[in-house]
Amino acid sequence: MDDDDRLVKRPRIDDVPVARRDPYLYFHDGNVVLCAEGCVSEPVIGPTDAASVNPPSNEAKSVITYFRVHQSILSLQSPVFRDMFSLPQGPDTDTGETYDGLHPVRLYDTAQELSNFLRVFYDPYFVSAAPYTRGYASSMLGPLKLANKYQVAPLRDQIIARLREIWPKDLEDYDAFRTQSRSCQEIFDTISLVLAGRIQDEVPYELAFMYYCVSVISTLGRVYSIDPAYFRIMFKGRRCLDKEMVSWKGPQFQCQHTPSECQRERFQETFQSILVKDDNPLKFFSKLCLACSVTVRSYMVEAREKCFASIIKNFQHLVE
Ligand SMILES: [Zn+2]
Repeated sequence: MDDDDRLVKRPRIDDVPVARRDPYLYFHDGNVVLCAEGCVSEPVIGPTDAASVNPPSNEAKSVITYFRVHQSILSLQSPVFRDMFSLPQGPDTDTGETYDGLHPVRLYDTAQELSNFLRVFYDPYFVSAAPYTRGYASSMLGPLKLANKYQVAPLRDQIIARLREIWPKDLEDYDAFRTQSRSCQEIFDTISLVLAGRIQDEVPYELAFMYYCVSVISTLGRVYSIDPAYFRIMFKGRRCLDKEMVSWKGPQFQCQHTPSECQRERFQETFQSILVKDDNPLKFFSKLCLACSVTVRSYMVEAREKCFASIIKNFQHLVE
């Protein structure tokens, strides 16, 4: 226990079994060495399996990753780094430790999060141009958390902007969104990103919609690496939504034709099917006469607005 404690708080060279260099962020002309516990996977974003994105914790504990970067670049972006580097030496100089000729500055972030965070300074397109596929939300966790910690406001804003760009906040966004398919794990990772980065207030509608999305994906029998609290919110929201759906009256048909099946048709579709933009409501109302289908068609515009608003309303109050 004492040994573990010492490894975490004040590592000496003989305490650290494996020293690694970040595969991307080790520049020979760098003038500061930073180090953090854990290892860094490469590539950061891509169709990799979960194990390589999140290295096993027993391995992570035995590794220190070193980064050799530039004080000027970090200071330019972060007042915290600026202050840190304005001190005569790094915080670990009292141990006398050196690495590659420099006194390493020990940071108490995970190496993976630090790597993704520092990468933003050297790759300006890392946040905005990386494909929004599986792994994206996880790879933004470090940049967002550390943007808060090291006070890099533009980076935080950039990540928020990307989330707003991807996730719908209104019906217009939704129509663009629904052509893309998203996996459940990917959505849960995005929810984690929002919560860990404390940006709920910046993306309230988007977050509510994320919960709605997972509530309609029918593969929940699978095992996801998520907080059970998310499931509770999801099911609660879903229950409220279904209750509201049942109470909907739908359009009032004044069918002129007799005998008519139209009177018997009820507006009993689910939120999902109403949200789908479909210019042919006969897909849902197969037995309507032409006149009634015109009525329903005009009603659909209003219904979709109402439906989207209900989704946001029912999930938003749960995540506030
Ligand atoms: Zn009719």
